[in-house]
Amino acid sequence: EMTLGVMGGGQLGRMFAHAAQQMGFFTAVLDPDATSPAGRISHHHVQTAYTDAEGLARLAAVSAAITTEFENVPAEALNQLAQSRPVAPSGAAVAIAQDRAAEKAHFVQCGVPCAPYAVIETAEQLAAIDANLLPGILKTARMGYDGKGQVRVKTPAELAAAWADLKQVPCVLEKMLPLQWECSVIVARGAEGACVNLPVQRNLHRDGILAVTEVYEGNVPPALAERAVAAAKSIASGVNYVGVLCVEFFVLEESHPAAAGLGGLVVNEMAPRPHNSGHYSMDACDVSQFHLQVRTLAGLPLVQPRQHSPSIMLNLLGDIWPQDGRNGGVPDWASVLALPGTHLHLYGKLDAKKGRKMGHLNVTGATIEQVRATALEAARILGIAAF
Ligand code: ATP
Ligand code: MG
Ligand code: MG
Repeated sequence: EMTLGVMGGGQLGRMFAHAAQQMGFFTAVLDPDATSPAGRISHHHVQTAYTDAEGLARLAAVSAAITTEFENVPAEALNQLAQSRPVAPSGAAVAIAQDRAAEKAHFVQCGVPCAPYAVIETAEQLAAIDANLLPGILKTARMGYDGKGQVRVKTPAELAAAWADLKQVPCVLEKMLPLQWECSVIVARGAEGACVNLPVQRNLHRDGILAVTEVYEGNVPPALAERAVAAAKSIASGVNYVGVLCVEFFVLEESHPAAAGLGGLVVNEMAPRPHNSGHYSMDACDVSQFHLQVRTLAGLPLVQPRQHSPSIMLNLLGDIWPQDGRNGGVPDWASVLALPGTHLHLYGKLDAKKGRKMGHLNVTGATIEQVRATALEAARILGIAAF
């Protein structure tokens, strides 16, 4: 049998392992946490730090090929693994996605517009900021996720205070753009350059965290969808990417002065892995993003996935777990599962904390009206705000 390895044992690694095991592979996970969602269901669990040379050697010893499930895996670790095994995506591609400054430079190089921005690494650069970038969002260049490490600033004084608060680490200041809505595109690219995509996902964030993804025929104007898919593919081919890549976009209020000259669609950021906004593909498409990840890693053919059902995904955050022991301490899954077309995915995490991604609910049906009615009813049962 052949074993596929993954760096990181979170929910994305777990769903990768499910897909890999379904297709006949064994899985190996490197994660320091003994109770990691993916480690607990895999054949091999190397329980060391991501930078531990001996642990990396053990992962490589049991794995035919290795991927990652989180972008903050040390690129150096991927490079060490690549000395003995195929690694996809490459350390070089992941290094770009880890650093907002390198990432934006890559978008510019690919001819894909992003928000106007400036890199701030020194007090001199801070002092020289173009006033046209304000109001803006100061983001740490590295390690941010779910809106962490971001401060909204209106004036040069607020900017200076925010940079000091963020401990003066390298940051990117982005112009605040008038968002109409947000979308994302998942592409899968093989070693020979073949590239397929999932349909464009429309995303709703709450408190910086993805809350709802809707995907159905007609949810995105076709011309815009075509531009987003073409942009995602050029971002992937521009780094010779192998694996699953998600690119997030902003769709702008074009009449707003701050959107002038940007063409209505700008790229926000990319994730060098499957993405939360692609989870609907597990139940609404004939090939899911995790099956695509397995195919790219194992060198299997890539075919264009087909969405066979309109779909809405609700993220299940720890917030909705009852804190008073009611219903055995878990949400009322039975009432949700009584609704036709609901698909529950739980990640096997042991403690439900506020804002923690515990699972997701995919809803499918014959029409989007039916899917929306079911999703709204599920949200009501679970205490998730309507959308
Ligand atoms: P993720 O968990 O997706 O990696 P993140 O912490 O990297 O999130 P971003 O994607 O940079 O955060 O920003 C989070 C959200 O903040 C965006 O989805 C968008 O709603 C809002 N946002 C970010 N940048 C801008 C901007 N320049 N103008 C307006 N809104 C923005
Ligand atoms: Mg991000
Ligand atoms: Mg984001």
